[in-house]
Amino acid sequence: MYKEHIESQLLHADRRQSVEHNAIHKPLHISAQYSFKDVRDLIAVFGNTPGYAYSRQGTPTVAALENKITLLEEGTGSVCFASGMAAIAAVMLTLLNKGDHFITSRYIFGNTKSLFSTLERFGVEMSVVDTTDIHDVQKNIRPNTRLVFTEAIANPVTQISDLKAIGDLCEQHKLVYFADMTMATPYLLKGKDIKASLVVHSLSKAICGHATALGGSITNTGLYDWEYYPNIMEIYKAYPAQNRALIQIKKKALRDMGASMTSDTANRIAIGAETLTLRVQKSNENALALARYMQESPIFSEVKYPGLDTHPQHQLAKSLFNGKGYGSLIAASLREDIDLITFLNHLNMIVLATHLGDNRTLCLPVAPTIYAETPPEERAKMGISNNLLRISVGIENIQDLIADIEQAYMKTMQSNV
Ligand SMILES: *Cc1c(COP(=O)(O)O)cnc(C)c1O
Repeated sequence: MYKEHIESQLLHADRRQSVEHNAIHKPLHISAQYSFKDVRDLIAVFGNTPGYAYSRQGTPTVAALENKITLLEEGTGSVCFASGMAAIAAVMLTLLNKGDHFITSRYIFGNTKSLFSTLERFGVEMSVVDTTDIHDVQKNIRPNTRLVFTEAIANPVTQISDLKAIGDLCEQHKLVYFADMTMATPYLLKGKDIKASLVVHSLSKAICGHATALGGSITNTGLYDWEYYPNIMEIYKAYPAQNRALIQIKKKALRDMGASMTSDTANRIAIGAETLTLRVQKSNENALALARYMQESPIFSEVKYPGLDTHPQHQLAKSLFNGKGYGSLIAASLREDIDLITFLNHLNMIVLATHLGDNRTLCLPVAPTIYAETPPEERAKMGISNNLLRISVGIENIQDLIADIEQAYMKTMQSNV
């Protein structure tokens, strides 16, 4: 049967769910509560019947975005949250119990690391491993291991985990494979392609793309048989096995944490997502060209980008992403004798900012910002030097980006004499 591609599906998704008044976009439903003529309908929403009662548990506008994320991931369903961090916390808090163990990558987003250390305080055990090495993952599996967490392209140093091998290992051991696919986006790689059980996206990044909203999503890929999962609560076992975990995550996490997405946010992210594939193509093309320029340039002593053949996981990235691109993230060390502050302050077009996956190119000195709380010895182990820059490449004209770096370098050198 002919299958439509994601760029087309994204554009027509709302219409096909029969939108009010035949509008092209799902409208903004801003009501905090919903009313019922028959109290039995209100009671039903508290049970198994889909519907809306109070917008902490969802709105029709948020549901329309959830539908788009599910299409992007070819999953069975999704739940949105107020941010990517809320989405990750939702899974960990609702699916793990005290005494459970999980395995996580050594190369993960700093805020996720912070959340995981909080879980340890509550009696959840954790092993931090090198997920670029499947043996390191394998040898850390214990009888009480429930879940393995990885990211697709690690921020800031761009390591690529052995994603498919981890998927096979999780399948073999009936472990939940929870994959943060934010940096790859579904355009480069879907969670299903690596046998992930649950996929998280920080929608704040490339899926929104315009830096106008924060959001996160969890998608159930349908590959994990939740019948086997020991931490599904009795009440949610009433649902078909496939949906149990997502219902538990949705009902419990939105209620317990209250980190709900608003309709306004869902609307902004959904509009941004319409051009996801175009933007990812352009930013990835720019990133490869910029990384190649930087590698040749005397301004940088080291450039890490999965698209360069000097990258340790270049071949792996090529096969995982089918050559479609290598992401928009570059990690580059400024030459030691160039003053970091002076150089960065001379950038005109490239924005000094901490975000990722924006339409604009952003630059951040890593050590004194997102790793300020990490001791220098530990930073060194993670490959984070004092002069490391994280560059999130946008969709500007590539010549303008290169010209900006060149002029900042010239001005920095002039101010030295
Ligand atoms: C930004 C990010 C998050 C957190 O998302 P927020 O929406 O900022 O809370 C999680 N994982 C990765 C890989 C990210 O880049």
